[in-house]
Amino acid sequence: MHIDIITLFPEIFPPIFNHSILKRAEQKGIFSVQFHNLRDYSTNNYHSVDDYPYGGEAGMVMQIEPIYNCIEDLKQKRSYDEIIYTSPDGELLDQKLSNSLSLMENICILCGHYKGVDERVRQNLITREISIGNYVLSGGELASMVICDSIVRLIPGVLSDETSALSDSFQDNLVSHPVYSRPQSFNGWEVPKVLLSGNDKLIKQWQEEESLKRTKQRRPNLL
Ligand code: SAH
Repeated sequence: MHIDIITLFPEIFPPIFNHSILKRAEQKGIFSVQFHNLRDYSTNNYHSVDDYPYGGEAGMVMQIEPIYNCIEDLKQKRSYDEIIYTSPDGELLDQKLSNSLSLMENICILCGHYKGVDERVRQNLITREISIGNYVLSGGELASMVICDSIVRLIPGVLSDETSALSDSFQDNLVSHPVYSRPQSFNGWEVPKVLLSGNDKLIKQWQEEESLKRTKQRRPNLL
């Protein structure tokens, strides 16, 4: 999978992509990412990409021209399965959406800023709009990182133990069961005995019961 990210702040991405699972996915050659500075596509001398909104409210709007130039340029090199705009009022990101995006070959993500982008970008250049939650961020950069992280770990071959993504919360409409590690006893707080029993069948049964119990308590809407 290849992801192109269009942003006003390309320099803030590398620390996230150069660590942990995203980095390993790139090293394995399963995933690649490129960051594109929208200012490089501005046609004016100041490299500006925003202007005042028609109608005269406060705040600035990202103009259509540089965004159009950038997307057209990228489309010369790749054909995209989706061109995504990160937007608070978009479709809410959940595990189901991440699963379906993880099957795609080429994705482009446009990060908004200021008051957002000229509506004609959304009407004509974008194929999908995704929100990471019902709150407003200052820009789409964090949202695009969240989208990338949640989908790249689902691409087959990225996680070393492939079943570990399958047992994550939401994969089967249940949240994850609790997990424990050494020591067996800490401050008098004990690991559940069943996990020490060595009986795989009983352990699996306990995990399923705990998953269901937690889902009922915390996310009853999933059931
Ligand atoms: N005025 C807009 C918010 C602009 S916030 C409104 O009220 O809807 C600036 C940019 O941050 C947006 O263009 C979008 O790209 C990004 N953004 C903010 N909140 C987001 C969220 N919850 N999910 C995804 N992107 C978000």
